[in-house]
Amino acid sequence: MTREVIVLGAGMIGTCTALHLALRGHAVTLVDRRGPGQETSYGNAGLIQREAVEPYPFPRDWATLLRVALKRGADVNYHLNALPAVAAPLVRYWAHSSPQRHARIAQAYGRLIEHCTDEHQALITRAGADDLVRREGYRFVFRDVASFDEGAARAQALLASHGLRHVVEDGDALAQAEPALRRRLAGAIHWLDTWAVSDPGELVERYAALFQQLGGRMVRGDAATLQATASGWRVGTEAGPVEAEQAVVALGPWSDTLLRSLGYRYPLFVKRGYHRHYTGGKAPRLALYDVDRGLVIAPMKRGVRLTTGAEFARLDAPATPVQLDRAHALASELVDLPEPVENAPWLGARPCTADMLPVMGAAPGHRGLWFNFGHAHQGFTLGPVCGRLLAELMDGERPWIDTAPYRPGRFN
Ligand SMILES: Cc1cc2nc3c(=O)[nH]c(=O)nc-3n(C[C@H](O)[C@H](O)[C@H](O)COP(=O)(O)OP(=O)(O)OC[C@H]3O[C@@H](n4cnc5c(N)ncnc54)[C@H](O)[C@@H]3O)c2cc1C
Repeated sequence: MTREVIVLGAGMIGTCTALHLALRGHAVTLVDRRGPGQETSYGNAGLIQREAVEPYPFPRDWATLLRVALKRGADVNYHLNALPAVAAPLVRYWAHSSPQRHARIAQAYGRLIEHCTDEHQALITRAGADDLVRREGYRFVFRDVASFDEGAARAQALLASHGLRHVVEDGDALAQAEPALRRRLAGAIHWLDTWAVSDPGELVERYAALFQQLGGRMVRGDAATLQATASGWRVGTEAGPVEAEQAVVALGPWSDTLLRSLGYRYPLFVKRGYHRHYTGGKAPRLALYDVDRGLVIAPMKRGVRLTTGAEFARLDAPATPVQLDRAHALASELVDLPEPVENAPWLGARPCTADMLPVMGAAPGHRGLWFNFGHAHQGFTLGPVCGRLLAELMDGERPWIDTAPYRPGRFN
């Protein structure tokens, strides 16, 4: 049965949700205050991370906590004035990161990640977006021998538990594989099943174009105008009010604002991140994750994109790109990054939940309202999987992955 649906948010998650609903023949309006894929889904490292079967836990060893507290690394920064607001979800994040709980959570996370490349491929083919995707994997590179040994052991364990294909490369093999490297490193793990997208925002645009070809409607509008009506939901758009029986909240890091206005209190927070492109140097062949310094160097369309780790700050606080400066100095030890492309760094925010799992399913307190947000470090990877799952739930089907671990009511 064809139903009318409003999807709020045209990032990777909302666009894939709208696309899967349209593929099922529903009449879908995708609403965003900007174009598709122009926020977080634009600025990420572009990796479809088949290897990311375990979500990032909160660090629990004292050495790392001290380094973070003293803001010594390029991987983490925080705004002191944001801490009172994020303290409660961060404490829960810390508790969920105990080895036993993290292992259980990782099982539920891994079940989503397992399907990421297959589900992207189905949409990439239909959207004619193969030209944006490289399927040669990417590398974790290690500066220190001890962390390389630890990384290799972990990769071996992931091969045994999840079949994650990889090659362990020593310093010589890495130097040969990546001639752009300026110095010898301890070694690398080359993950073979991860894909790299040369322009993440453009992949979302191609998915949105496919959605429109299927009859989907894309309009600019403000999700804050969402209102319940007698028969469903209404939102204000540039094309006038749009009404539908069902609505989906897929606003990424902005989801919390709308949820609060509807009376929901989720343990959400953001990990902000920066990027900048550089040209004029020798680009690495594949994306490199500098494990010991927490930054990613990714060759892309606009140049080599350098991305940073997490900044705990208010979503709307002014940019403080100190991490990017540090990351640039550290990354320049590895590859030549002479000429910045943009005048100022890009800033985005990973939408995070305290238990590291996305929130996906029917809103506990409203009829016809659905949630799909909180995909944290891997929302670009998970868009097609989670879009399909939500569409199946909305159609009253039993989804092909058990969605109980992601149900919106789990925090109550
Ligand atoms: C530095 C960095 C690197 C990353 N690298 C990777 C990676 O390599 N691989 C990976 O899988 N993930 C990565 N991520 C995470 C990934 O980018 C996010 O998880 C993902 O983009 C979230 O998608 P989304 O659709 O939920 O949110 P978004 O892409 O932010 O989409 C939300 C949409 O909501 C719209 N919106 C907001 N408010 C309103 C409103 N009031 N009215 C209407 N519209 C509104 C916005 O305009 C936006 O289009 C990275 C993130 C960062 C910051």
